[in-house]
Parts: sequence; structure tokens; C-alpha cells
Amino acid sequence: MLTAVLFSSCTQKYEQNTYFALDTYIQTNLPVGKHSGLDDYISTFEKKLSKTYEGGELYNLNLGVEQTVSTELYELIERSVQISESTGGAFDVTVGSIMSLWDFKSENAKVPDSESIKNALASSGYGKLKLQNGQIMLNSVSVDLGGIAKGYIAQKCVEYLHGQNINTGFISFGGNIALVGPKTNGEKWNIALKDPLNTDKTVGQLKADSGYISVSGDYERYFELDGKRYHHIIDPQSGMPTDNGIASVMVYSNDGALADALSTALFVMGLEQSLEFYEKNVFDYEAIIITKDRYIYVSDGLEDVFTITSEQYVAA
Ligand code: ADP
Ligand code: MG
Repeated sequence: MLTAVLFSSCTQKYEQNTYFALDTYIQTNLPVGKHSGLDDYISTFEKKLSKTYEGGELYNLNLGVEQTVSTELYELIERSVQISESTGGAFDVTVGSIMSLWDFKSENAKVPDSESIKNALASSGYGKLKLQNGQIMLNSVSVDLGGIAKGYIAQKCVEYLHGQNINTGFISFGGNIALVGPKTNGEKWNIALKDPLNTDKTVGQLKADSGYISVSGDYERYFELDGKRYHHIIDPQSGMPTDNGIASVMVYSNDGALADALSTALFVMGLEQSLEFYEKNVFDYEAIIITKDRYIYVSDGLEDVFTITSEQYVAA
């Protein structure tokens, strides 16, 4: 499911490819003949960082089979814990136990009972994780990198391409977009932001030629029961899908992992806390927040590059 649509005005020089990995369709738009090796490169990361890849590193870590992990997995968990701390637990890399109670794909999905949620909350909390000399002690929690891994891998892919002197194009990982560099004619890309309340439409356009864009929305993975939507962005305090009036959050940053984690974190924080958090300058990023009552908040650094195109929304 794409959150952003990208338009290319010089399609002849680029070719598109689609891979399925990381539980999402990955679409590349790169110079003709310059795709080689990217799918294998992505799959080396998937084996390390995906909690659902059977026999993979994170899978084995969560099973208790292995505590000593690769530098990549160690560093990403370490980074995740730092972001969990800095966001006051709005982002919590240990939501694994809670996530496993929710099945958003099933035909007859149901809301977990409160006893199960209570137990899952007891075996979560980033403060329980202990990291030391390449080893990770879970202390009953389950690590879930679903809110950060795609952004991290997106940046690795861009660095990989730059290493081969490929400096134009983009890669879309569903809700995460990595800009490899400007169009060959020097222009910026137009990134359309999905309307979270009507996902066939878009609300606006961002112009950019580098960096990472991450969108978290309640429409990405969800089920509906009795008219209520249950989605995959969990409030780690309650163990329930976040329900605070936010419809979607876009984060732009030169740090891929940070963009991804913060789009999840700001969604959980809600509007007021997100605005305060931005003012504190804890991290270097820009954001767009869309509320269910159709207001769009655009941070200062994006004002000149983001245009609202939908009449259904009001700039806040
Ligand atoms: P997507 O996976 O659709 O790109 P997000 O970046 O918002 O969307 O990440 C959502 C995923 O992050 C969930 O599927 C889950 O694996 C994980 N997650 C959910 N809630 C949280 C949270 N509060 N903190 C950290 N990770 C979370
Ligand atoms: Mg995210």
C-alpha cells in the first residue's frame, strides 16, 4: 500500500522495479540498468532485522535462541532504545508482545481481551532491555523494529547506491521514501501525500531531492469492528491502537531511521505533545501532521516546499 505517489517528468531515463520484502512492496525508480544487487542487499537486512523472518537474527533473539547479534541489529536496537527514551516511550521498540496480540490481516480479526493486554504490557517496556558488548538481554520483552527498520534500510540502500555513483532516483518502501538524488535534469521530485481519510486521493505535495520521508497512518494496517477502526500504531501505555484524533504523520529527515521512528512516535504523542516536542529541538527533522478533523500542521522548515492541494483540508 503506497502512501505516496511520485511523478517523474523524465521517465525515459529511469526504470521502475518492484520487489516484495519487509512485508511491503518496494518500488525503485533508478537510472536504466542501475538496479543490480539492490534486492539481495535488502534481503540481507531483512534476515537480520525482521521479527517474522523465520530463523533470522531478530526472530532467534526474540525466541531466546541467541543473545549475541550482528553489529547492524545491535546498533539498530541501541538506536531504537535511545529514541524510545527521547520520545518518553511514545516510540517503544519493545511493543513486540503487544503487537503479537493483534492480527490485522485476519478475516475475523478481534480485539484482544483486557487480561491478555495486561500481560503483554507486563512483558514490554524499553527500560527492561539490557545491551552490553554485542549481547542483548531481553528480560521478557519482545523486540519489534517494525517502526524503524524500513527507514534504516532505506538509508542503507541510498548509501549503497551512492557508493556505486548512482545519485539520482528514489526508492519507495510503502510508507517510507528514500530520495537517492535529484532528477537528472536537476529538478526536485514531487512527493504526493496521501489523504488519510480518503486514501484514493492526495492532500498535498512536497518538493525534495534528498533525504527520507516516512508516513505513519491509521489506514496502513487495520481492521474495523462495530464501526471502530483498530490499527497498527500502538499506544505503549494502553496496549491499544492510538486514538487521539491524528490521522497521519509525515516526517522528513536526513536520517532514515529517525524519520521512520518519529512518524510513529508523533502519531502516538498526538498533536499538542508533537508540537511541543518539535519546539524542543531534540532531533533534526520536519513534520506534517494531519488530524481527523481535517487540519494540516506543517512545520516551519517545510512551509516553502509543501503545498496543500486538497480543498477538504485547512492549513493550521
Ligand atoms: P508502517 O509499518 O506502516 O510503515 P509505522 O512506521 O508507523 O508504519 O510503523 C508501525 C509498526 O511499528 C507496527 O507495525 C509495529 O511493528 C511497530 N509499532 C507500533 N506501535 C509502535 C510504537 N508505539 N513504538 C514503536 N513501534 C511501534
Ligand atoms: Mg514509523
